[in-house]
Parts: sequence; structure tokens; C-alpha cells
Amino acid sequence: MQNIVIAIDGYSGCGKSSTAKAVARKLGYTYIDSGAMYRAATFHFLNQKVDLNNTEEVVKQLKKIHISFKKNPQTGKQETFLNGENVEEAIRSMEVSNFVSEVSKIKAVREDLVSHQQQLGKAKGVVMDGRDIGTVVFPKAELKVFMTADLEIRAKRRQKELQDSGKEVTLEEIIRNLSERDKIDSTRAESPLLRASDAVEVDTSFLGFEEQVDRIVDLANERIGRYTKAYGSNH
Ligand code: C5P
Repeated sequence: MQNIVIAIDGYSGCGKSSTAKAVARKLGYTYIDSGAMYRAATFHFLNQKVDLNNTEEVVKQLKKIHISFKKNPQTGKQETFLNGENVEEAIRSMEVSNFVSEVSKIKAVREDLVSHQQQLGKAKGVVMDGRDIGTVVFPKAELKVFMTADLEIRAKRRQKELQDSGKEVTLEEIIRNLSERDKIDSTRAESPLLRASDAVEVDTSFLGFEEQVDRIVDLANERIGRYTKAYGSNH
């Protein structure tokens, strides 16, 4: 069988991460959360009180950031580490969410993280989710998916996720955060959020979770079959 790269892009809060994780599990692929990398960088910049307008300082601080992922042996869930410290919880805070899109606009930040992401996906057999995976990180990905969903439905799902982890945030605040991030992500000069012309659009507004996972797994199996037929097996 050919190992392929699956790029999943889309608006904030469409369920990209949970879907991508489940797709990776079903295919036996590695899941890479590119948003967690932007969040970890943001967390570092906030802690170090970095002036985002000072490019020299941003570049200096980027050199001090080492981001990695490790599976928690107890829960089986993948967690994000910043310089060896587990920041999985901390990077999901509203403080980081409200600041991350400003950090993600910076060219030096994108260059650094995109090159790290390309390195992580080099061996293929990966599912990566984000905003520019099908357009910039892996423009040759064998399968590109663009996920969308109605804003209010996205906000309600995010609110439930936060509630499940013990955080109470109003629907209005979540809607404000999601639409603000969508706006900044879609209009920035550096690799804006765009649907790649060859991406398959999946609107999850009225799809059940299993349904959206199965739809992508079916697409993936079809592509794996097609590429294996054309190029033989690579593993
Ligand atoms: O995926 P998640 O919502 O955790 O991403 C957080 C933020 O990171 C996004 O709103 C966006 O600003 C940024 N991001 C990005 N490019 C990616 C992934 C995330 O700019 N590939």
C-alpha cells in the first residue's frame, strides 16, 4: 500500500482536530495538530512578554522553542510539549485562543513552523490539520479536505468541549473568538486560510461525528488504492 498525506484545513472550531485524530487512528497513521504548534509558540511569547512588532526579538525567541508531541500512556491521547513541559491544557486557554491568530500572522513564525511541519510529515502516513496544510505545507498532499460548519453550531460544539474540561465560557464569547480568528486567518498576507482548488469540501453542520470520520476515511482509502495501483506499495 502507498502511504499518503492527508491535509485537513478549515475554519476554527469545525471539529478538524477530533476528526483528524479519529481518521488517523482508523488508518494507523500519525496525527499532527499544526494548530497546537501555533498555540505553543503563542504560549511562549505570552510568557516571555515578547513584543510581536519586534521581528528580531520574535526570531530570537523562536530559536528557544522546541515543540514535540507525545502520547500519554494512560489516556492514549497525544499531548503537546514545549521545551519538555506538557502544555496541552495551557495552550487551550481563552487567553491563548484570543492571541494565537496575531502570532500566526508573523512571517518568521510561519516559516519556522511550516518547515517543522514538513519535516514531521516527510515519511507520509500522516493526517495533519490546520489552515494552510493543503495550500502551503503539503501542496502535493494526496488527499485534501476542507471542513466547514455553521458558526453557531461550531460555537456550541466548542462550548461543550470547554464545559467537558470544566471551563465555563459564554456562547457570545466563543462566537466572538471564532469569527475574529476566521477573519484574521482568512485575510492575513502570509498563507491565509484558503480552500485549495483540489480539496474536497466537507460541511459538518449536520453530520454526526462518525459520519464525518467515515466520509474522510472512505476518501482516503479510495486515494490509497489509486496511488498503490499507480506506484506500487511503499511500505
Ligand atoms: O487549529 P486551532 O484552532 O487550534 O489553531 C489555532 C490558531 O492557529 C488558528 O486560529 C490560526 O490562527 C493558527 N493556525 C494557522 N495555521 C495552521 C494552524 C493553525 O495559522 N496551519
